[in-house]
This record gives sequence, C-alpha cells and structure tokens, in this order.
Amino acid sequence: MVRTKLQHCKACDLYALGPNCKACGALMVSSAPLKYSPEDPQGKRRRERENAGSDEWADSLPSPSDGGDNSE
Ligand SMILES: [Zn+2]
Repeated sequence: MVRTKLQHCKACDLYALGPNCKACGALMVSSAPLKYSPEDPQGKRRRERENAGSDEWADSLPSPSDGGDNSE
C-alpha cells in the first residue's frame, strides 16, 4: 500500500505533490494527519511568513504602476 505524499499549501489552499507549492512556491505541509488545528494562530503566522516573498505575495503589494502617483 503506497501512501501518497499529498501536500497542502495553506496559502493557496491547494493540494499537490512535492515539498513546495507549484503555484506560490511556499512550503507545503503534509495533508495527512493534521498536527495543528486548522484554526491554530501559529499556522497563520507560519503561513504568512512562508508566503512572504512569493509571487502571490508580491502581487498583493501595491506597485508603482498601480496608482503610484495616486491619479486614478
Ligand atoms: Zn501555494
């Protein structure tokens, strides 16, 4: 019986294989036995830290081309 190493990216809420999320590159966690509660505040902090620096994270930041001069 092969156990699939399905990983879960909390940032994207996606399931995939491999240590890192293919979408945002964040470190994914094993989706098997949950070690932490889904509402664990530590999980949120961890997620934010891991997601920081990813494309998704960078995309969420205000960019100079996104109303930098404040002239809609
Ligand atoms: Zn992701």
